[in-house]
Amino acid sequence: MPHDPTRLQHLIKNYYKSDLEKIHKNYERICDRYNLEKKDFLNDVSLYNHCDLLSVSNIYSTIRNESLKIIPVDYVETFKKRKRNQNTTTLGEDSDETEAKSAKTSSDKTCAHCGGSEFIFVCNGNSDGMYLEFPNGRTVSGQTPQLTALTDGDGVSLHVCVGCGMVHGFNSTQLKRDLERYEFALEDMNEADQDELLFEEDDQQQQE
Ligand SMILES: [Zn+2]
Repeated sequence: MPHDPTRLQHLIKNYYKSDLEKIHKNYERICDRYNLEKKDFLNDVSLYNHCDLLSVSNIYSTIRNESLKIIPVDYVETFKKRKRNQNTTTLGEDSDETEAKSAKTSSDKTCAHCGGSEFIFVCNGNSDGMYLEFPNGRTVSGQTPQLTALTDGDGVSLHVCVGCGMVHGFNSTQLKRDLERYEFALEDMNEADQDELLFEEDDQQQQE
């Protein structure tokens, strides 16, 4: 449903100087860093159409969600490697991109478990109200991490085999990688929130 633009103006005017500013500046830095077009979260009320209510926390989580979505995977990989080097602990295993790309779904699906071809597609297409619990105990709400075969950028999206209940395209290795990737993206965001160290390097280079 459409929101009242004046309410957005009111909220931004009165509550921007807070965590909202931090997350918004952080979002803009990420856009600058990767040459992405910025969405006008401070004025474009249509960006909040997925929220039932236009509130400061909904504005905050929408911007945060967008920031998490646009951080490229390869950047997270680089960040991860740098982190590993800093800690001087090597976890062995290096990622191979080819496997990640092969986990695509086709239109004429066959269940890898029972050979069935009947699937029920479950999708909510909306991250609002989303709630997840990761195996490590992390809980995520109101955001949609991209988990292969389970969620897409908008919400829950999965094909379940009617014959055996298997989730089509589910790949344990891939899911573990997705979860790990998301953890690092969050960690990245948190670090950037705290001291912005992460982006200083590039900022300085741009100024010169
Ligand atoms: Zn099956």
